[in-house]
Amino acid sequence: MNLLTFDIEDWYHPNLAEIGSAKDIEPEDRVVEPTLRIIKMLERTNNKATFFVLGEVAEKFPELVQEMIRKGHEVASHGYRHNLVYNYTKYQFETDIEQSVEILEKAINQKVIGYRAPSWSLNRSTTWAWKVLHSFGFKYDSSLYPFKTFLYGDDTSPRFDYTIQIEDGKTLKEIPPSAVEVFGSRMPFAGGFFLRVTPLWYVRWCISHYNKQGKPAVIYLHPWEIDLEQPRLALSAKERFIMYANLRNTERKLFQIMKKYDFTSIRDYFAFDRDSKKTKTAKFMGQETA
Ligand SMILES: [Zn+2]
Repeated sequence: MNLLTFDIEDWYHPNLAEIGSAKDIEPEDRVVEPTLRIIKMLERTNNKATFFVLGEVAEKFPELVQEMIRKGHEVASHGYRHNLVYNYTKYQFETDIEQSVEILEKAINQKVIGYRAPSWSLNRSTTWAWKVLHSFGFKYDSSLYPFKTFLYGDDTSPRFDYTIQIEDGKTLKEIPPSAVEVFGSRMPFAGGFFLRVTPLWYVRWCISHYNKQGKPAVIYLHPWEIDLEQPRLALSAKERFIMYANLRNTERKLFQIMKKYDFTSIRDYFAFDRDSKKTKTAKFMGQETA
């Protein structure tokens, strides 16, 4: 069993660059159609997923979020605005989370227990964010990218799920996106740019590598990554490549992966609702739990 996750945001949300121009002109909303296509693919392949939905999207399209629940998927939080957590004060983050939780829970009439930060921007310098998440009743976070890129991530961060000790015995489960380790070097494959540009056989090898170790691979993608007609943002050449490389083949690749492997939601895999105390604990930001 593996974990499939989608960050539900629109084409103009990623914060690769200052895209003020796009935000000033009331950009066209395109998120619903590719997200519905993802939900259809999941149904055809009999898989379940976790959708980390941006508050701004859920506010505009509550029926999209309700459709995810109707089909048996998990709805989790991607924050209210697509702002970087390390640029927030604790108070600003609290406000963002409060808005996100309010909108999502009103739409789905269920408790939201999972969070993923915009652009993997929750890290070891934002330990206060874990306290905020815990205070709002979150059970897990999925934001610590275990591979260093020029924008985010950390090569020393655990690759498998582990438990973060916050304070006074309070804990939060961390479920990082996957990255393989070969001869001491980490290599990403599990989503976004990396999933789009690496060949399917390599992605399969990586997922199987995880499964041989008795671990679920944690895959992630965005609806705009299968939207070929989206307007292109004014970005540098490097950022443009990261954002748009190989969009053309991504939907087909995603479908192949869905057909080959069994996927479920994070909530169901870890059975958070049934027994939240079951998980073993490691030291604060410590070792990976076996
Ligand atoms: Zn995002």
